Amino acid sequence: MNRVYNFSAGPSMLPLSVLEKAQAELVCYGESGMSVMEMSHRSADYDAIIKKAEADLREIMEIPDNYKVLFLQGGASTQFAAVPLNLMKTGKADYILSGQFSTKAFKEGQKYGDAVAVASSKDVNFSKIPETTRESFRPDADFVHICFNNTIYGTKFNYIPDTGDIPLVADMSSCIISEPVDVSKFGVIYAGAQKNMAPAGLTVAIVREDLLGWTNPATPSMLDWKLMADNDSMYNTPPCYSIYMAGLVYEWIKSIGGLGEMKKMNEKKANLLYDYLDSQDYYIAPVEKESRSMMNVTFVTGNEDLDKKFAKEAAAAGLKNLKGHRSVGGMRASIYNAMPYEGVEALVAFMKDFAERNPK
Ligand SMILES: *Cc1c(COP(=O)(O)O)cnc(C)c1O
Repeated sequence: MNRVYNFSAGPSMLPLSVLEKAQAELVCYGESGMSVMEMSHRSADYDAIIKKAEADLREIMEIPDNYKVLFLQGGASTQFAAVPLNLMKTGKADYILSGQFSTKAFKEGQKYGDAVAVASSKDVNFSKIPETTRESFRPDADFVHICFNNTIYGTKFNYIPDTGDIPLVADMSSCIISEPVDVSKFGVIYAGAQKNMAPAGLTVAIVREDLLGWTNPATPSMLDWKLMADNDSMYNTPPCYSIYMAGLVYEWIKSIGGLGEMKKMNEKKANLLYDYLDSQDYYIAPVEKESRSMMNVTFVTGNEDLDKKFAKEAAAAGLKNLKGHRSVGGMRASIYNAMPYEGVEALVAFMKDFAERNPK
């Protein structure tokens, strides 16, 4: 078996033990006599799978009882519309712009009401997280939207914005279950699963119960959180197999000791890479130190041809998908939960070797 270190931003690596468990159960799940892919979502076997996945996610994230967990479809991008459709009661919403996804969410919000960008780091090409205080937000806004970890730029909020009584809504697609978070500080957390949880096709939303119940009447039923919550995410056929895979990932996190341990492992990997970046001047890390992401690490050589050569030679050496997003160039190493420490060691060794072989 020739598995590479896959630094893709998403879909991305899954833990090998999870893939092997899925492989072992692929053709025949338990006593069911069929694959999870072939099961009715209304069957007893599947009911146990989805209930356990939710219970395990609640356990590892310590989700308070007054939050609903929704298993949805359409990716995080669909939630960019679902958020205003479910929460824009008076029609006002504040957005913090920290990158491309938060800007897309903002544009979607503008379709439905008075959406305002109250803070932005666009002027510095999103190389840092904008600072905010409670005064940054309109007191009568229905919600404040942020993107907690900016996958493309490699930045992450190192603080939770103080929005007072205004519900804080966070896109956590690329950092969910990478470390503990205080869910009670958020009104809504949502995430596409394909970065750090499961294969593509599943979106998880965690919604505080008191925010359910007002939905713009023009909202498509499939985007109505209340309807989804009332039907236990089974208003229609859910993304059954991706939910099963997410369940295996949650079990794996429990087996390594939970999100506290996960954070330690992720910090160790990120520190190895950032410490190397800070120790030399061949590669440049464009992100402000205080805003660095633990999941997506961006760097450039300062020479586009060398960047291209780097990504190409790294891929040939078994370090795949290190090319940066087309809008920022350079390199990006996505080191989600499933990336082993050895993968980052191999990357740093390659970076040293490449720098020696290609003097600037
Ligand atoms: C990947 C990503 C998205 C887009 O997710 P889709 O599931 O493709 O819609 C949105 N936000 C963040 C932070 C992402 O990383």
